[in-house]
This record gives sequence, structure tokens and C-alpha cells, in this order.
Amino acid sequence: MRANYHTHCDFCDGKATAGAMAAAAHAAGYRVLGFSSHAPLPWWTDWCMQPARLGDYVTEVRRLGREWADRGLEVLLGLEIDWVDGETYPRHPRFADLDLDYRIGSVHYVSWGGAERFAVDESAEDLALHLQAAGGPPGRLWQEYYHNLSALVAAGGFDILGHFDVVRKNNAGGRYFSEDDPAYLAAALGVAAQLQGTGIVVEVNTGGMLRGKTVDPYPCLAVMKELCARGVPVTICADAHAPEHFGPCLDAARERVRAAGYRSIAVLSGGVWREVGLDET
Ligand SMILES: [Zn+2]
Ligand SMILES: [Zn+2]
Repeated sequence: MRANYHTHCDFCDGKATAGAMAAAAHAAGYRVLGFSSHAPLPWWTDWCMQPARLGDYVTEVRRLGREWADRGLEVLLGLEIDWVDGETYPRHPRFADLDLDYRIGSVHYVSWGGAERFAVDESAEDLALHLQAAGGPPGRLWQEYYHNLSALVAAGGFDILGHFDVVRKNNAGGRYFSEDDPAYLAAALGVAAQLQGTGIVVEVNTGGMLRGKTVDPYPCLAVMKELCARGVPVTICADAHAPEHFGPCLDAARERVRAAGYRSIAVLSGGVWREVGLDET
């Protein structure tokens, strides 16, 4: 059963309508499609949904659910909700009454030293400028990122942890830090350990691969092995922003899951999570 829970559309920074995304997923063999627009933030961005559109988003995804129900595609309503200390988080009252099918909790933002907050997955050019402005030792980027990721996991209130180590997105060739640095790995593995027993599902996310930013999915293999050893469930998501994003990196994602020791992935359908054999995805 092929499923994808990390899907953007033109309610946020996706490149197509929700209807076009549903049709593309169905054509690519998916049987469950969850929409997860970037939830509105308390400040303006060009990549999150605007607060005034939240009602229309809910209405449209539910409408698509009815439209596709008899055509072999289960459409689910979700949101990708940011964690920014004290500002926005999955349990925020703003998202309490939406009757969502699931929530993705993600960290995009970091900040330190009084500098402007910035997203670790922004363009390489913008990231370079923000890092220059923030200053501090080179490791500060991943230290702040995993500090926030750990705080997100501790706060809870979500079902799927988004792009575990997206802080690698602009780090091709070890531009900002060594991904083999024991201190870096300890920070990442610490969050993996924290997930044990929480019930949170970790997504194997091919968004960086799809954009040619990384050579492998998030999370890295070392983290995946730790998650497997601790019995943390995983699912596979494209972080799709366009119709052509359904399918291309599925083999790499399955391979990552298998190499880590998993034989099945978690799938949400009919309101319940269950394990499905990798060969059935
Ligand atoms: Zn994200
Ligand atoms: Zn996303």
C-alpha cells in the first residue's frame, strides 16, 4: 500500500493545486495521500499558508476526500507545523479545532546571538548570509537545530517527525560541518533515543534528494539504525511540492529503510496506524 503524508500544494509553497496533486499521486500508484501544508506562522513568510486560507484548505482537502473515496485514493487532512520556542508548536491552540487526521512536527528555524531567525533549509545563498550575520562557531547551526528538534519531540502533540536531519540540506561536501563528527552524530542520535516509546512515527523523507541537494534521504543511515534498534516506527514520504515528485526516489527510500534493519513501514489508513511490508509499498 503506497502512502504519502508529506504533501504541499498551492495553499503554501507547492507548485500545483491540491486536486492536481491528488490526481498525480493516484496515477503514480498511491492509495493514501495526506496533505500537509505549511501551517500558518505568527509572522509573514512566502512559504507558509496565510492564516486567512486555513478554512479554505480544510474545506478543499475534505472535498477531495469525498471526490476520491470511490476511486481508490484515501485523502487525509494534515498540517506540517513548525516548532519555534513559545511562538508556534503542534499543540498550539490555533490548530486545536481543525479535526486534523494527523500532524507533522518539523523544525525549520534556528536563531542565536540575537540575530534574526532563519530556516536551515532556505536557499544556500540566503543561508550563507544568515550564518554570516549570526556569527559564532561553525557547529552552532546543527547544535541549535538539534536543540530545537529535541524540544519539539519533548513537547509532542504530533504524529510524524518531519525531515529529521534537514540541517544537512545545504551541507553538500561538508560545507558547514562534518556529518561524521562524533559530536554531531551524538546530537542526532540523542534525538533518535528520545523518540523511543513516544509513538511518534519518523518519516524517511526524499525531499533533499528530489531537489538534488542531498545524495540520500533524511534521516542518515546511522540515525535510521538507531531508530530501528529502539523500535521507532518509520514511514516513507516524498515531501512533494509538485506532481512529478511522487515516485522518483521511492527505491532509495525503501533501500534506506531496509539497510537500517526494518522490514516494514507504518501506514495510516482508516484512522489507524499499522505496519505494512516494505515489498507492499
Ligand atoms: Zn518541512
Ligand atoms: Zn514539507
